[in-house]
Amino acid sequence: MLPPAFFLLSIPKDFWSEYLDAPFAECIDCGGSLQNASVYVIQKKLVAGEAVFEMALCESCRDALTVTYSEETKANINRRMKEQFESNERRDAAENPINGSSQLLDKCLNYCLFCGIHRKAVSRYSIAGLFHQETVVVQRNTNGQSPVMVCEQCERLLIPLISKQTRDSWDRFVAEHFDGPPGVEHDTPRDQPMMF
Ligand SMILES: [Zn+2]
Ligand SMILES: [Zn+2]
Repeated sequence: MLPPAFFLLSIPKDFWSEYLDAPFAECIDCGGSLQNASVYVIQKKLVAGEAVFEMALCESCRDALTVTYSEETKANINRRMKEQFESNERRDAAENPINGSSQLLDKCLNYCLFCGIHRKAVSRYSIAGLFHQETVVVQRNTNGQSPVMVCEQCERLLIPLISKQTRDSWDRFVAEHFDGPPGVEHDTPRDQPMMF
């Protein structure tokens, strides 16, 4: 489902598949067309400007995956995210107001959700977002944010919030779907950013 209070903008090339050199077309899990999904998510990990991990997942497959995560992990992550969304909203209000949807997209995509560092200042980071047909959902408020950029250092700080059950479930998902498609080099599953 689409979140409340959002903009829809054309998909930035950052969210294209590097393997296809085109926008993602299919869900990695069910193989269904992303155009037919009500919404879908894309997640990529970049190292020195190159994608070492990328995938698109339709809403039903994303829901099916998160059902396998432990309640403890989901509660921990939700609490941590909520805190961050609220503190970002206070910070945004104190700074210059964000004008318009493309400025909002820049804020979401180019600055780390947690520490605020610029994407160009770090060599390892993940980006993720929510999409609807040929558009990216742009949203930043206390309920959530799309898209997001998280630097690797901040991603590591989330690791203690993730239970073994959740980690094993995610590692299994990655192992099932990535036996190394040609042209994309993978870190070991343990280094993959997790999908929430
Ligand atoms: Zn699917
Ligand atoms: Zn950061």
